[in-house]
Amino acid sequence: MYNILSGLVLNGSRSLGSLGFTHASLASKYGVEFVRASLVAVDTLARELSLSNGAKLPYDRLVLAPGNEFEDACGLTQADYDTRTPHAWRAGPQTQLLRDQLVAMPSNGTFVITIPKSPYRCPPGPYERACLVADFVKTHKGAGARVVVLDENPSIQAEAATLSKALNQIHAGVISYVPGANAIQIDANTKVVSYRDGIGSSRTLTAQVVNPIPPQRASGSSGSSGSSASSASSANGWRTQAGLANGTSGRWAAVNVLSFESTATGGAGIHVIGDAAHCGLPKAGHVANQEAKTCADAIVRLLGGQQSDPAPVATSACYSIITASTASWMTAVHQYDIASRGMKVSNNGGNTVGAKPVKSTAITSKNFKRMNICFSALMDDTFS
Ligand SMILES: Cc1cc2nc3c(=O)[nH]c(=O)nc-3n(C[C@H](O)[C@H](O)[C@H](O)COP(=O)(O)OP(=O)(O)OC[C@H]3O[C@@H](n4cnc5c(N)ncnc54)[C@H](O)[C@@H]3O)c2cc1C
Repeated sequence: MYNILSGLVLNGSRSLGSLGFTHASLASKYGVEFVRASLVAVDTLARELSLSNGAKLPYDRLVLAPGNEFEDACGLTQADYDTRTPHAWRAGPQTQLLRDQLVAMPSNGTFVITIPKSPYRCPPGPYERACLVADFVKTHKGAGARVVVLDENPSIQAEAATLSKALNQIHAGVISYVPGANAIQIDANTKVVSYRDGIGSSRTLTAQVVNPIPPQRASGSSGSSGSSASSASSANGWRTQAGLANGTSGRWAAVNVLSFESTATGGAGIHVIGDAAHCGLPKAGHVANQEAKTCADAIVRLLGGQQSDPAPVATSACYSIITASTASWMTAVHQYDIASRGMKVSNNGGNTVGAKPVKSTAITSKNFKRMNICFSALMDDTFS
């Protein structure tokens, strides 16, 4: 089930079932063999995986794309996320639960969404969600309905100009945006939310729906839950045990962006891509697709005794939904920067490392239509 466009389940434009996809083409067209099991351990010395079905799998090169797990935060547990205060930051049953709660919200109700400190999955995503919910309550709830956005970051984390316009102008009077919120505590039963705002004042409000987006880390981080029932696979700390928790205080897997090979001791031959990787690129599906290409190209070269491409390029493109029929977009080209050994935003494919990304300032229905084309292209490129 894909996360992209899952916001449209919240406003009723799409069904949860429409987010499903299969790996069938990868098997039938490209000879990929699928094993339905979870990875439970990586033996980096023996170069062997242990799977939940008891099988052992040797490897010459291993590519891991385990995504994120979600921490217990704001006084909430994984059970709270699954039953009362869904984060819905992985599409699935929580998405439907949040939709149902939004529909049932009283006409003058308050919807609270919290945003964790960066880095987290899909930088513009939480702001997009706030806009979608605000747009929904404008047409389906009374004039008293409110959306409160508690952002633990000091400012909007992506597409700042466009999303600021969306939050503060297009949805003015419905959305209250609170940057620099901290010490957030949520009571899953009463939906009372307490926090300190950006200038240190203590605040308390009673919400009807609370949508906490928890702090995230690469899956397989710890032996505690850290992941909802929909991904029990990440609950045993296999990544930490394999020594692949060497990025940002162990939260992510640090990699060499020339090949996405792990930089951990014992990480030789192990490549990590997607949200789990710590490499300076945004945590987004389009970027994960790009990382996979760089990684695959590097593996082919390395297996052939060559060096990986010394100057890889990756693009990122993202549409943000602002209302049920309009969207904005941003795109950027990232190039390898020798000085920092990381990827930096270039001047739209030129050689100027460090320039600003190309952004759109327009919020239009044309963008909304193009978003669907862009999404189909990404999914076709990845899975068909
Ligand atoms: C609301 C929302 C909107 C978004 N919108 C966009 C957008 O418009 N554009 C965009 O580019 N990105 C968007 N994203 C981000 C995008 O969904 C993620 O960046 C992308 O899914 C990351 O891919 P991944 O493969 O790293 O992780 P995932 O998609 O999470 O896939 C990881 C997979 O690994 C599996 N796994 C984990 N551990 C194990 C194990 N031990 N054994 C076996 N399997 C395991 C998991 O079950 C999962 O299936 C959005 C995200 C959200 C939440």
